[in-house]
Amino acid sequence: MTEIFAGSFTQQEPIPDDAIEAALAVLRHGRLHRYNIVPGELGETALLEQDFAAQMGAKYCLAVSSGGYAMATALRAVGVQPGDPVLTNAFTLAPVPGSIASVGAKPVFVGVTEDLTIDLDDLEGKLEQARVLMLSHMRGHLCDMDRLMELCDAVGVTVIEDCAHTMGAAWRGQLSGRQGAIGCYSCQTYKHVNSGEGGLLITDDEELAAKATMLSGSYMLYERHLAAPGPEVFDRIKYTTPNVSGRMDNLRAAILRPQLRDLNRQVERWNERYGRIEKGLRDTPGLTIVERPNAETYVGSSIQFLLLDWSSEGIAEVIGRCAARGVELKWFGGAEPTGFTSRYDSWRYAESTRMPDSDRVLAGIMDMRVPLTFSLDDCSLIARIIRDEVTRIHNQATS
Ligand SMILES: *Cc1c(COP(=O)(O)O)cnc(C)c1O
Repeated sequence: MTEIFAGSFTQQEPIPDDAIEAALAVLRHGRLHRYNIVPGELGETALLEQDFAAQMGAKYCLAVSSGGYAMATALRAVGVQPGDPVLTNAFTLAPVPGSIASVGAKPVFVGVTEDLTIDLDDLEGKLEQARVLMLSHMRGHLCDMDRLMELCDAVGVTVIEDCAHTMGAAWRGQLSGRQGAIGCYSCQTYKHVNSGEGGLLITDDEELAAKATMLSGSYMLYERHLAAPGPEVFDRIKYTTPNVSGRMDNLRAAILRPQLRDLNRQVERWNERYGRIEKGLRDTPGLTIVERPNAETYVGSSIQFLLLDWSSEGIAEVIGRCAARGVELKWFGGAEPTGFTSRYDSWRYAESTRMPDSDRVLAGIMDMRVPLTFSLDDCSLIARIIRDEVTRIHNQATS
């Protein structure tokens, strides 16, 4: 009997009841704008910032309208100017080079290794080209953060972290987003907390925090923030920092706060599912598991494996046959960008030079979401289906 998976790869869990209650309270009083508060009220957005700063052990936190907006704000805050080169990953998603392009700067792409992390040797060779690195922890894979920070610190390159897939992850016990000057998170539906759209930015640097707050559209109401620096810091930058509105609102903040309190439990649930799938895929002929380093605490909200050096026809056949059995695999090696997948040469507004080693890896990356609506049995079934089809096509190709 041919097994088929009937679940959905894009169905998230419902918003938890306590978050719904908090959202209803905001809807009932009607004060959705973050600065629309009554005497004695702090506001859900300011409280969210306070909560997240404490959770991450950061001095400052700013909530904004999206993850991409948080990244663009970080770039502006560190002083990136139009025309400036900004280093970033070749393997990432479109909003990352997009955030660089949005401030008129130029992405300089750095290669990807078979571990699916930024190629630190390639980075080392390119560091002198820029003064900022927008580091994307793409699909939750953390590079050797000790070596990366050493390389960047040695030449004074500022690191901004894109933690869209690493909220709740850690390197050697230090939470992801705490190594660089600024950490950026997304609260979009497909990330680790869900408010539809939304973003968070954390930093320990008072001036970056003040600039980011002004940039986000605080007008002169920054004293209503609970995780921002004092007014004396704003006095230094308030006349020279433009307002580029992109605030978070109280409705979304209300939905997020209970979800953040539950993050660790959700991470455990993701990792149980990830572990099931990984176990089921191990020792499949022709398939390479992406091994996770011991220093990395990851969040298995998606899983990747490699079909290295396969023909495009072979990969297309695996994708087609898995899809026919209900398993949605995404391929980063396709010539045309589809859905969420695209590669550095699809972003034609940015110049790039070919990176043959990275191209080989990109051509073999298979990517799959792991929503929490999957049961552990679903995960075992999905792994059996992939294993079955990869083995079949691999054996055909090598017989
Ligand atoms: C989702 C995502 C972003 C941006 O988040 P939005 O909230 O959608 O703007 C940035 N980087 C990566 C890798 C992402 O997946």
